[in-house]
Amino acid sequence: MSAMRRYLPVFHDVRGARVLVIGAGAVGARKIEALLAGGARVTVVAKEFSPAVKEHASRGDLTGLRGTFHPDQMREAELVFVATPDRALNRRVSAEARRRRIPVNVADAPEECTFLLPAVVREEEFTAAISTGGKHPGAARALREFLEEHRAEISVRLERGRRRKRIAARPGKVYIVGAGPGDPDLLTVRALGLLRSADAVIHDYLVPAEILSLAPAKAARICFARRGRTAGHGAAFKQNAIHEAMVRLAREGKSVVRLKSGDPLVFGRGGEEAEHLSREGIPFEIVPGITAAMGCAAAAVLPLTHRDRSSSVTFVAGHETDEKGGSAVDWNLLPKDGTLAIYMGVGRVAVLADDLAGAGFSPDTPFAVVENGSRPEQRVVRGTLSDLSRIALDSGFRSPAVLFVGRTSALLPYENTGERSDEPVAQGV
Ligand code: SAH
Repeated sequence: MSAMRRYLPVFHDVRGARVLVIGAGAVGARKIEALLAGGARVTVVAKEFSPAVKEHASRGDLTGLRGTFHPDQMREAELVFVATPDRALNRRVSAEARRRRIPVNVADAPEECTFLLPAVVREEEFTAAISTGGKHPGAARALREFLEEHRAEISVRLERGRRRKRIAARPGKVYIVGAGPGDPDLLTVRALGLLRSADAVIHDYLVPAEILSLAPAKAARICFARRGRTAGHGAAFKQNAIHEAMVRLAREGKSVVRLKSGDPLVFGRGGEEAEHLSREGIPFEIVPGITAAMGCAAAAVLPLTHRDRSSSVTFVAGHETDEKGGSAVDWNLLPKDGTLAIYMGVGRVAVLADDLAGAGFSPDTPFAVVENGSRPEQRVVRGTLSDLSRIALDSGFRSPAVLFVGRTSALLPYENTGERSDEPVAQGV
């Protein structure tokens, strides 16, 4: 056992505490200054007072007793400090204090102490205390110097930590926040901070319960049902209801997190919501998230771009239609030598396969479907376009899924990294 183990490092609150100091030379005076700065009620017993102590005594900052030590002086003391040049006296005071169970410190005599005074580096927001039990003063000094040299760096870190802690949703404001593809670990630090401080959360059906549970228990949670089927009304009705809810809650003075799967500005109507809030004069902010294509690509080790295989990536909506009911996407214009990430397409894979073939995509172009990317039930199915419809039927793809098309969708010869296993980490300092 290290000799230091028997010392419990503590920070003793001395505000208002009665403290007895025997000896008022240079060493005693330093302790007196520290005690007065902490608001202790100090009684000093000494034959001679240093000028500074004399000054404090005359101002009434402390009680000065000129003379010799008497055990009665300890009667109300909570702490005792001894710093006289008379070793025999120091020992006697220490013995008396210990007999009365009053913590005692004797300068330069660790064996007479029940507590030690560490070397200290003090900053506005922290105090670092270093002790070697009086055995290695050189090491303590070196550590103190190290900390002093690194003050600036420590301050920068503290400032960073403070800024992180300050993330909090403000009343009357709407945060349009990306929740990522589903794994709560893939939230941004800002998304997490806002979610944790929200009064109300308006979310999509795709945001999993695990992420919603990060909001305070008392926060209102409002979910708009899948694809505009709110109470049997159409998509436009649903979008209006979301707009109204955001505005109403913000006007009530609530901090509102509008939580969307993936990124709010990728097939998320984040633009429409921002436009509406701006029209209504409601302050808002957009917080990006990891969009499904990126989350799914990472999960399936599927490079969206690749030096030899793909130099572009296009996010495409697989189900959007124009007024005439056809696809809103002109498949002919999409690059055939890049990567397509098709969202919202699994419901009409057969039509998509025809569209792609019609646009001149070669039947041997590889595809990959990543279903429930980043979630526990994730599934990856690969093949080539010629087999897309059949494989889709056999596999029974379900939403949410992203269909990737392009040469990087083929299984690349990468090591399978397998399950992600996070070690439990000790919490706190
Ligand atoms: N704003 C979202 C997209 C919303 S549209 C984003 O940036 O990701 C809904 C579509 O997103 C789904 O039809 C599906 O294509 C895709 N998607 C969302 N989460 C997904 C997930 N975990 N795995 C696969 N696809 C997902």
